[in-house]
Amino acid sequence: MTKSKGPETLGFQTEVRQLLKLMIHSLYSNKEIFLRELISNASDAADRLRFEAIESPELLGDDPDLGIRIEYSGDDKTITVMDNGIGMSRDELIDNLGTIARSGTADFLQHMTGDEQKDAQLIGQFGVGFYSSFIVADRVIVETRRAGLKDGEAVRWESDGQGEFTIETIERSERGTRVTLHLKEGETEFAEAFRIESLIRKYSDHIGFPVTVAAAGASDDDKVVNSATALWTRSRSDVSDDEYKEFYKQVSHDFSDPLCWSHNHVEGKRDYTSLLYIPSTQPFDLWNREAPRGLKFYVKRVFIMDDAEQFLPLYLRFVKGVIDSSDLPLNISREMLQQNAELTAMRSALTRRTLDMLKKLAKKESADYAAFWENFGTVFKEGLVEDHSNKDKIAKLLRFASTQDSSGKQTQTLDDYLSRMTDGQEKIYYLLADNYATAAASPHLEQLRDKGIEVLLLTDPIDSWVVEHLMEFDGKAFADIAREQLSLPDSDGEITRDASNEEHKPLLKKIKKVLKDRVEAVNVSRRLVDSPACVVSAADELAPQIRRMLEASGQSVPATKPILEINIGHPLVERLSGEKDDTRFNEVSNILLDHALLAEGSQLENPAAYVRRMNQLLLEIGSD
Ligand code: ADP
Repeated sequence: MTKSKGPETLGFQTEVRQLLKLMIHSLYSNKEIFLRELISNASDAADRLRFEAIESPELLGDDPDLGIRIEYSGDDKTITVMDNGIGMSRDELIDNLGTIARSGTADFLQHMTGDEQKDAQLIGQFGVGFYSSFIVADRVIVETRRAGLKDGEAVRWESDGQGEFTIETIERSERGTRVTLHLKEGETEFAEAFRIESLIRKYSDHIGFPVTVAAAGASDDDKVVNSATALWTRSRSDVSDDEYKEFYKQVSHDFSDPLCWSHNHVEGKRDYTSLLYIPSTQPFDLWNREAPRGLKFYVKRVFIMDDAEQFLPLYLRFVKGVIDSSDLPLNISREMLQQNAELTAMRSALTRRTLDMLKKLAKKESADYAAFWENFGTVFKEGLVEDHSNKDKIAKLLRFASTQDSSGKQTQTLDDYLSRMTDGQEKIYYLLADNYATAAASPHLEQLRDKGIEVLLLTDPIDSWVVEHLMEFDGKAFADIAREQLSLPDSDGEITRDASNEEHKPLLKKIKKVLKDRVEAVNVSRRLVDSPACVVSAADELAPQIRRMLEASGQSVPATKPILEINIGHPLVERLSGEKDDTRFNEVSNILLDHALLAEGSQLENPAAYVRRMNQLLLEIGSD
């Protein structure tokens, strides 16, 4: 450890500087939250000490009662938050209060818009923590001594939140941390007992340690302001919705209210309490595989670890909350958790609980469920691959865009779809596309639209796996309408390879000859109404959307050629059929294919050739 006696001046990491600037501006109207953040840090510090003391009881020394004390001074314009928790060493202090450890922070900060309300939302879900002190303070001093270190190894940190901080080794006889805020002009309300106490009751009542408030320098017999019992240990009927919401904000570091929660005590063979929340906003690092996830884990009310990811499957990684077990050993480690047999049973129970909570939400609050789906639907769908045992429950919770609803939003359930199936319809039809606009305008839909048959429009990259793993729903198989073989109700069997193929053989052969390097086959289509042509793939081929995705991720995919289908009654095809000029026949055939490819979202292999042909054709129109 580096040690120096005199104060040393260090610069904040660039991200911290940016965060400080943005935060002070965008969170000003929520400025009081700084106290919640500091108390939450103090409570975490006490939790951590209690945990380390399981192995090393001597860390508690002659100060075993953990608590949080708040002192204020109207004269000095200060508020001080003190804890006798774990404290920080010099190196920890420099790391914790000089940098932001979360990866992706720089990217996140780029998303700031300058719109105060939007930014407040964004920055709130990021979790601002200690740095929020600078919303109300122009000078902050942290004095801390890590449990187990000597009095002379304490450290003092000071900053005006502008760009630098100083750090200095000091003597300190108390263990833990003391954070003093020198309040800005106009913020002295936070140095008043009444204001402080009401904030504690509002935000920090559920903290599991006593929080006391006193005027600076007053004696020790001050009163405990909060109820100081961990919220999840109380019975459901004793906890108000507001308390549940505040507790969520503490465990999740999120500013917004959760969508819903589920609080349960399980007794019997296994004894544990769970409090699970569904957030209403998407964390900025949802797609970062290394981002911390999981539940806060306690054993008999002793905090064991943050981000215990073993209690829920990966597809439920957005769930926040607390698990408190009465059976698991206090000294359990991450690795031991992984192998613990009890855990498998708890994990499946908690998974079911989460799915039930979502089911309830879907039934009761459809707007909230829509918010859930918008934020987490894509993650949730991974469950079909990851959690086969709950396939049916998951399937009922899925939401899709469909031809039924022109909003393009994913709002339709599979049950909705079944209820609208036409007479004789045996399949659930779907179309894969890169985005909703491409899907909704696809030529593949024409015949089905005419017949009044609904089609699910699947545009998330994961969707092809979704249908593959579902296979069927309520006995109805899924059918991709961009496949060569497609049977529709009331049609005379398979749409392709029917008599009309035979009837138009000379034309088909002629087109095939021209396009022989570009298509597998040319067939007469019965799925088209308004468009002259479309491309489809054989039943066992990769869908073109998947092919593009794999190629984009650098994987080599075996080359295949699409099947071209032409709409025999379309005037363009009729004209082609009567075309005597071989060159013109060749050009128009190629353009038909190019247009069919473009319509499904494919890129042309030779766009320049297409442009040349098109230009030529346009010139000919002009000269006719
Ligand atoms: P967060 O609490 O979200 O991690 P903060 O910026 O509030 O972010 O704090 C950064 C880190 O500083 C914490 O993770 C913790 O390790 C440390 N820290 C903050 N306050 C205290 C405290 N009172 N006692 C001990 N460590 C603390």
